[in-house]
Amino acid sequence: MIKSLNLINHYFHNLINEEKMQDLIKETPSIVSTRSAAITDVSIISTQLFKKSKMVTFKVTGSTGKTYKVVFYFKDKNDIWGEIKVYCSCPYTKWWGPNWNSKIEGYRLWTMGKDLPPDIRDPKREHKVCKHIISAFKRLYTGEMSKKK
Ligand SMILES: [Zn+2]
Repeated sequence: MIKSLNLINHYFHNLINEEKMQDLIKETPSIVSTRSAAITDVSIISTQLFKKSKMVTFKVTGSTGKTYKVVFYFKDKNDIWGEIKVYCSCPYTKWWGPNWNSKIEGYRLWTMGKDLPPDIRDPKREHKVCKHIISAFKRLYTGEMSKKK
């Protein structure tokens, strides 16, 4: 009972911010960051504004030429450095840990498929984000589009 309550509290806890995302990228095996550096085709395909929040959707081309959808949700539409949630449509996110880890740590925007812990593919829960999210993150936060307050 207590355990599940904690999990629920954790799940509905604050979203993460840009700084926490930097930490998650560091916690993810470095090969994922290395692979993200090889991605050159990252573009924003839409920005949806809501009353308070906004969602930015990217198209990211992976190494095999397949394109994936990456979505960043900003709780405050005027502050990309504030609280965020993320999503990527790639199989790595779905099967290798990020789908589960992002749920547990509060930055999952949408679920993908069955909600099962990745006990075989990511037993240590190290796979926090995929390379597509890293490349979109870099585009957003270190690109010409933004300046830190
Ligand atoms: Zn991905």
